[in-house]
Amino acid sequence: MEKSKVAVVACPDYEPARVKESLQKGLEAIGGLESLVGKEENILLKPNLVRSAKRERAVVTDPEVMDALITILQENGYENISCGDSCGLGTPEGIAKEAGLKEVLEKHNVPLKDFLTSERVETADGKFLMIAKDALDCDALISVSKMKTHALERITGAVKNQYGCISGVYKKLGHTQYPNAESFAHMLIELNQKVDPRLYICDGIVAMEGNGPTSGDPVSMGVLLMSTDPIALDTVFCHLVNLDPSYVPTNLYGETLGLGTWHDDRIEIVTADGTISEEELKRKYGNPNFNVDRRKARKKGALDLLEILGVFQSRPYIIEEKCKKCGVCVESCPVEGKAVRFDNGRRNPPVYDYKKCIRCFCCQEMCPHQAIQVKKHRLPWGK
Ligand code: SF4
Ligand code: SF4
Repeated sequence: MEKSKVAVVACPDYEPARVKESLQKGLEAIGGLESLVGKEENILLKPNLVRSAKRERAVVTDPEVMDALITILQENGYENISCGDSCGLGTPEGIAKEAGLKEVLEKHNVPLKDFLTSERVETADGKFLMIAKDALDCDALISVSKMKTHALERITGAVKNQYGCISGVYKKLGHTQYPNAESFAHMLIELNQKVDPRLYICDGIVAMEGNGPTSGDPVSMGVLLMSTDPIALDTVFCHLVNLDPSYVPTNLYGETLGLGTWHDDRIEIVTADGTISEEELKRKYGNPNFNVDRRKARKKGALDLLEILGVFQSRPYIIEEKCKKCGVCVESCPVEGKAVRFDNGRRNPPVYDYKKCIRCFCCQEMCPHQAIQVKKHRLPWGK
C-alpha cells in the first residue's frame, strides 16, 4: 500500500523569498505541482479567513503564504486562479483587507469570492450541507489552512479548514445538526470528500496555541506542511505538538471513512533533505510544550448520563474584565432562543444557560476581544 506523503519544510519567518523557496521545496517533495494540478484547470484557493484580525495574531492564513503560492502558480503558467472563503464573522473582503491579503490578491489579479451561493448536498446520515457552489464547481481546490488549536476538535488544520466551504448562515445550522466533536468530525470528513481538495497546505510558520482558534497565543513553529492526504497532514501537526493523533476526532473518523490515514506506518514524512522518522520530526521541528488539550477522550458508556447532566463537560465562560459587551457571542450562538444572552440590557456581560448550551464553542471562536475561554473538566482517567 502506497504511503501518504507529508512534506515538512522549515521556514523560520514570513520573509517573502524564504516562504516561496520553502513552499517550492515542499511541493517538489510531494511530487511537484504539475503532478497535482493541470495548467488548464480552474483553481480555487481556500485560506482560513475565519474572522477579522491582524496577521500577527495568527488567526488567519498569512498573506505571505498566499502571495508565495500564487506567485509559484502564476510563474508555472497557471492562469485560472481565484480565492474564497465563507467567514465565521464579517466578509472575506473586510477580513482580507485587515490581514493584508487584499493587496496580495489585487497584485496578482486574483478575484476574491464570498461563497454566498450554495448548493444543497445530501449527506450519508440523511441530513444535508449547503456547500458553496464555487467550491463544488472549481476543478482543483487548494486548501491553505492555519495551524491552530480548536476548542471542539482540538486542532484546526487541513480537515477543519473546509468548514469555510459551508455558506454563511448555514454554518450555524451545521453546529446544531452536528452538536458534538464526534458528529461534527463525521460531517467534516464528508464535507472534505464532497469538495475534494487536490492539495492541502498548512501555514505553521507562526501557529496559534492555547485558546484557539481565534483567541489563543501566536507561537513560532517555523514549518510549512503539504500533502494530498489531510488526515496524514493533521497527524504530522499532532506529532509536532506532542498530541496523540488518535485523540483528534477528525483523524479517527477520517481514517474509518476513507479520507486518509493517521497511522504512522502508512505515512512518509519528507523534508527538503529526504524522508525522516516521527522521532526525528519531533526532535528537529517539534514543540512538546505547545499548549493544546492532551487529555484522553472519554470513552462513551455508562457515565454518559453525567455528560447529559453536564458534569464532565467542558464549557465556555466569560472573563468579565475583558468583555466589551459587544454581543457577538450572542449573535454567534446557533441554539434557538440562545444559550448565551444579555440578562440585564447591556449593563453586564452576557450570561450562559448551560442547560441549553450544546458546547459548539462558536461564541468562544467569534468573541473579538478574547474574553471567552473554555473550562476543561478533568476526568479521573484523563491525562
Ligand atoms: S463577544 Fe466577547 S466581548 Fe462581546 S459580549 Fe461576548 S464575551 Fe463580551
Ligand atoms: S453558548 Fe456558546 S458554546 Fe453554547 S451553544 Fe451557544 S455558541 Fe455554542
